[in-house]
Amino acid sequence: MSKPCPLSPTIGLPPPEPESCLVTSRVSSFKGGTLIAEDVRDLDAHLRRICDPDGYRPDRCPRCGHDVLHVHSYPERHPRGEPGMPPVVRVVQYMCAADKCSATWRILPMFLARHLWRAWKTVERVALPGEMSSAWLPVPERTQYRWRARLAAAARVLVVLLAASGGFVLDSVAAQVGLDASRAELVHAYAEQIDVLRGARLAAVAALTHRLERGIRLM
Ligand SMILES: [Zn+2]
Repeated sequence: MSKPCPLSPTIGLPPPEPESCLVTSRVSSFKGGTLIAEDVRDLDAHLRRICDPDGYRPDRCPRCGHDVLHVHSYPERHPRGEPGMPPVVRVVQYMCAADKCSATWRILPMFLARHLWRAWKTVERVALPGEMSSAWLPVPERTQYRWRARLAAAARVLVVLLAASGGFVLDSVAAQVGLDASRAELVHAYAEQIDVLRGARLAAVAALTHRLERGIRLM
């Protein structure tokens, strides 16, 4: 039997606080970081881009604004357990050519989940409430539990981020769910308003929050 679901009704109680790794900005503390390519939504699109050194090259360094960045390396990602996904997916890392900067920027296609070692599709199928049971997926029960707990945690930091973004739609999503929403509730509200397809909902909210404040994580 699986462990008790962290999403069992908690009527009247606010959702638990998220882990600190999910709400720590990385904008100023790191020299470089990860940029998410929000227009690359599947493996085919990624393979077309990655074979060209210019495919993912940013126009400017987000840290210093310098307009020359060189390919630095091709780090490997291993998105386990997603049908059709190869065991190894190469991504690209660029380095800013400005002497005083040298920031490195890793470009991640939108369909890969930062830090979770999976494709977002896999995570969504397992962890988003309302999805079909996915007992057949090779995802350890402990991992499934951790993902669900993260989505059940308070979305307060993300809601504030959306409300402060200045976008009308994002502001209305924030107003709709309120400060006491869970992260899963925020994802559902956002997907409904923006009309995001199943399988792409977690990726969409994760990319959005990372764009608004680098390092802030949905889960
Ligand atoms: Zn730079």
